[in-house]
Amino acid sequence: MPLKKFVVGNWKMHGVAADLEQVTAIAEAAAERPGVDAGLCVPATLIERAVRAAPGFTIGAQDVHHLEKGAHTGDVCAAMLHDAGASLVIVGHSERRDSHRERDEDVRAKAEAALRSGLATIVCVGESLAVRDAGEAVATVSAQVDASLPRSDIAKLSVAYEPIWAIGTGKVASPDDIEEMHAAIRERLVAAYGEAGRHVRILYGGSVKGSNAAEIFAVPDVDGALVGGASLKAADFVPILDAAAAAVEGAPAIA
Ligand code: PEP
Repeated sequence: MPLKKFVVGNWKMHGVAADLEQVTAIAEAAAERPGVDAGLCVPATLIERAVRAAPGFTIGAQDVHHLEKGAHTGDVCAAMLHDAGASLVIVGHSERRDSHRERDEDVRAKAEAALRSGLATIVCVGESLAVRDAGEAVATVSAQVDASLPRSDIAKLSVAYEPIWAIGTGKVASPDDIEEMHAAIRERLVAAYGEAGRHVRILYGGSVKGSNAAEIFAVPDVDGALVGGASLKAADFVPILDAAAAAVEGAPAIA
């Protein structure tokens, strides 16, 4: 049974007050497409203002510390995200795994802290080009999933498959490669959580745009998208919401 599509924008280190009008425009468009769940993960500095600019819309963060509080200069914990109005967080994005040396066990601890606090949580996984060229993409990502998955309540868990070589490059994984990887991730989710693993949404991320979204959403086990560059402007993001809405027409919604 298809799951309701979940389309999330990742603004990365982009966004100041002048960009809040894009948040409002995206939220208004999302409200007109109730068949799709949508959200925007903005910089921490913008969360509270984004929530005010888009009442009722899902605003998220791009990282969270695994501890509840303490001497961790520059970090933000789950309670702080809730306090700012966030209801969603991305953990384990490849850019953080790379530049902040986050390991699977760190990602798992963050996911557990986020889910424990009640934040919807997207755990990112994905292989490098060298790994794909070596024919080890499925094995590598499966191992990443196994080691990064939280051992906690998973009602608000999603997984994003983001091949690193497709992020911000304009290159998109082929439908066959996406299908193969999402099937492998689904298998790992069911191995970890039993039948509940069938209800965890698996998003694809990597140069998703209005022009390729319909083809990606048609791939089995693609339950949404994590979108970087094309989420910064409503004019680019709304066509992706439209493609998701078209793909789920008639499909039963999940909670
Ligand atoms: C991302 O930031 O997670 C991402 C997929 O970026 P882009 O859509 O720009 O490739």
